[in-house]
Amino acid sequence: MRFHFTEEQQRLRDDVRAFILQERTPELVNELEWNEHQWGPAARAFVKKLGASGWVAPTWPKKWGGLEASNMDRLIIAEELSYFGVGPSFRGAGMAGPVIMHYGTEEQKEEWLPPIARGEIEFALGYTEPQAGSDVAALDIRAVDDGDYFIINGMKTFNSACHFADYHWLGARTDPDAPKHRGVSLIIVDMKSPGITVRPLWTMAGTRTNEVYYDNVRVPKKNLVGQRGRGFSQMAQALDLERMYPIGGLQRSFEELVEYVRKANIDGKRLADDQIVRRQLAEMAADLEVCRLLSFRLATILDQGRVPNYESSTLKLFLTETSSRLSHVSMKILGPYGPLLRGSHRAVLDGIVAYHHRLSVIETIYGGSSEIQRNIIALRGLGLPRA
Ligand SMILES: Cc1cc2nc3c(=O)[nH]c(=O)nc-3n(C[C@H](O)[C@H](O)[C@H](O)COP(=O)(O)OP(=O)(O)OC[C@H]3O[C@@H](n4cnc5c(N)ncnc54)[C@H](O)[C@@H]3O)c2cc1C
Repeated sequence: MRFHFTEEQQRLRDDVRAFILQERTPELVNELEWNEHQWGPAARAFVKKLGASGWVAPTWPKKWGGLEASNMDRLIIAEELSYFGVGPSFRGAGMAGPVIMHYGTEEQKEEWLPPIARGEIEFALGYTEPQAGSDVAALDIRAVDDGDYFIINGMKTFNSACHFADYHWLGARTDPDAPKHRGVSLIIVDMKSPGITVRPLWTMAGTRTNEVYYDNVRVPKKNLVGQRGRGFSQMAQALDLERMYPIGGLQRSFEELVEYVRKANIDGKRLADDQIVRRQLAEMAADLEVCRLLSFRLATILDQGRVPNYESSTLKLFLTETSSRLSHVSMKILGPYGPLLRGSHRAVLDGIVAYHHRLSVIETIYGGSSEIQRNIIALRGLGLPRA
C-alpha cells in the first residue's frame, strides 16, 4: 500500500477537478446530490462527457472503452466526483459491467460494455422483493422458459434508478425446484420491454426509489448472464463492488461544518472555543481518516487482482455509520438551525445537514444493512461459524 499519490495521479486529480469545476451546474448538483445520483438530462450529458475521457470505467480494457488504469486512479476520479456532489453512482460501470466482463458471453460484452463505458446507458439493480431483502436468495420473481425467451412475472421493491435506467439487472428465479441459492439467475432486461410498470416509492430523505411490476415480460434468453442458477453468487460479487462507496461527499460536509464552527458566534462566544464541539470534530476527523484508509485498502486489493469481500463490508459499515455520526454531530452543533430544510429562510449550509441527516439512515440500509455487514465480517472475515 502506498500512502501518497504519484505525480501522474496528482495530475489526474487536477484534471478531473478542473473538468468538474467547468461542468458543475446547479441542475447537475440538483440531480446528482439532492436527488441521490439521479440521471436526469444534466447528468446524462455530464456522464457522456466523463465517458469521452474514459473516466466512467477507467480500469476496463481499452477494447471495452476503458483506460486500463489502476483502481487507485478509479478511486481518485470517484472521490473528486463525490467531493463536488456530482458522483453518478455508476451501477453499470461499477456493478453490472464487471460481472458481465467476468461471466458474460462475447456477444454480451460487445452489446453492453462499450455503451456503459461511453456513459450512454445505465443499469438499475433488481434484487430486493418484499420477502427478500437481507435474505436476497429468497427472491421469487419467476422467469419461465418459452423457447428462446423467458417470460417474467412478479415484482421488485426498493429498486432505485428504475425510473431512468435503460436496463434492469434482474435477479429472477429460473428453477423453483432447486435449493434457493441455486435456483436464481441474473438476467438483463430492457426497461422499455412491454409489461413493465414502475411506481415511485419516496424515501424519508425525499429521494426516489421504486416498485417494479413484471407482467408477462418477454426477455431473450441471450440476456442471461453467466450460468443459469448461479445468479446468487454473481449478485454477491456485484454487491461487494457496490459497497465501495466514496467518501468525498462526507469529507466536504465535514469541511463545511468545520468552517461554520470556525466562524460562528453563539451568544457572543466563539463556537470554536467550545471544548465539546472541538472534541466531536476531532473524533470525526479521525473517523474520516479511517474511511479513507479503508478505501485505499480496497483499491489496493483490486489492483492486486483480488476481489474484495468482507473488506467491502468493513468500508460500507464504517463509512455509513461515520456518515450517521457526522450528521448527528452536525445537528447538535447547528442546534435549532440543523433541521431547517433547503430553501428555509434561516437554513444554514443550504439545508444540507437536514438532508444528510435523513439520508444517512437510508445509507445504513441499502446495499445491505449494517447488521448484514457485521454478519459478513464475522463469518467471512473472522471465520466464525454461521449462526
Ligand atoms: C433507499 C433505498 C434504496 C434501495 N435501493 C435498492 C436497489 O436499487 N436495488 C435493490 O435490489 N434493493 C435496494 N434496496 C433494498 C435494500 O437492499 C434492502 O432494504 C436491505 O437489504 C434490507 O432489506 P429489507 O428492507 O427487506 O429489510 P429486512 O431484511 O426485512 O431487515 C429488517 C431488519 O432486520 C435486520 N436483519 C435482517 N436479517 C438479519 C440477520 N440475518 N441478522 C441480523 N439482522 C438482520 C436488518 O438489518 C433490518 O434492520 C434499497 C433500499 C432502500 C431503503
